[in-house]
Amino acid sequence: MALRQIRLQDDEILRKKSKIVEVVDDRIRQILEDMVETMYHTEIGGGLAAPQVGILKRLVVIDMGQGLIKLVNPRIIQQEGSQEVIEGCLSIPNKWGKLIRPDKVTIQALNENGEELTLTGTGDLAKCFCHEIDHLDGILFTDFVVEYI
Ligand SMILES: [Zn+2]
Repeated sequence: MALRQIRLQDDEILRKKSKIVEVVDDRIRQILEDMVETMYHTEIGGGLAAPQVGILKRLVVIDMGQGLIKLVNPRIIQQEGSQEVIEGCLSIPNKWGKLIRPDKVTIQALNENGEELTLTGTGDLAKCFCHEIDHLDGILFTDFVVEYI
């Protein structure tokens, strides 16, 4: 395992679109492991997307206190409701803002063994799914902030 360097706001890689992962192999599993280690190394990180460590692949890791989730090619297939949330981002240190997210989100993805999974998250997990999947399309939470706090 290895810690990866987290790319910060002005790094243009954060604005690029990540590529679909065609085969979930040992190399992909290694990147996911490195992302997990990097996320846990931070004090506040509940999620990390591959572009944040300089890799333009559709990979996300999340741990919002309900267990570790590793996602390959995640996409939102359903969303409902809305909630006002406060978000920050490991790539945008010391900046927090209020924004509106759906309050229930269902995603489809592959797990680290290449098997399909469907997950539904509410509250903080729904917010996190949106935030991390946005990273894969070069979108940052600051694009939606209605008020900085
Ligand atoms: Zn982020």
